Amino acid sequence: MLHYYGSYDFVVCGGGTSGVTAAVASARTGAKTLLIERTGQLGGQMNFSGPPGFSYAYLFNALHEQVIAGFAAETHNRLLEMGHALPHTLTDWRGSYVFSYVDPDRWGLLIYQILTEEKAEMMLHSLITDVIKENNTLKGVVVEHPSGRSIVLAKVVIDCTGEREIGYQAGAPV
Ligand SMILES: Cc1cc2nc3c(=O)[nH]c(=O)nc-3n(C[C@H](O)[C@H](O)[C@H](O)COP(=O)(O)OP(=O)(O)OC[C@H]3O[C@@H](n4cnc5c(N)ncnc54)[C@H](O)[C@@H]3O)c2cc1C
Repeated sequence: MLHYYGSYDFVVCGGGTSGVTAAVASARTGAKTLLIERTGQLGGQMNFSGPPGFSYAYLFNALHEQVIAGFAAETHNRLLEMGHALPHTLTDWRGSYVFSYVDPDRWGLLIYQILTEEKAEMMLHSLITDVIKENNTLKGVVVEHPSGRSIVLAKVVIDCTGEREIGYQAGAPV
């Protein structure tokens, strides 16, 4: 049986680093935002492969100029203040490969807090299994989650599954 879960401005599929960043950016514009993640944690590959460490790798160039800021820098700075990150390692011998280490478990907890503060909704333990299309337009997704199989409608669906699962299910060339 299919339940109706809700309608959103912006539905983000996948709660890895890209999905979380998209959800926070969307929620900060005031858009009604839902993040759907199949596991019980945020961070995606950062958590699957990360502990005990994960590093933002290219926030600085070889001249030690910061070239990437935004949400990566914001989360690194906040974790640094809390003692759950290390200062940027600006070494000459690594060329442009500058590490900015964060603790992935603490990163996930911080993200949970930020998404809650920004009033973005989360559906964890929720696997997207299909898409809803009207003609050639994506209208939402079908999700298997602990309270049953549900339909989620969206003005915009963004695929952050890391493997373009939603695009594939929608019939887009992958
Ligand atoms: C071993 C390893 C070490 C790495 N180390 C570093 C590093 O130190 N520094 C660095 O910058 N990069 C590193 N990378 C690369 C980095 O991890 C990835 O580029 C990055 O995590 C990709 O983020 P993403 O959000 O696009 O995808 P992912 O992190 O893969 O997130 C995708 C999310 O979507 C969810 N999902 C997938 N399908 C569905 C579905 N159908 N329904 C619901 N949810 C779904 C997944 O559970 C996952 O949480 C590493 C990669 C690996 C494999």
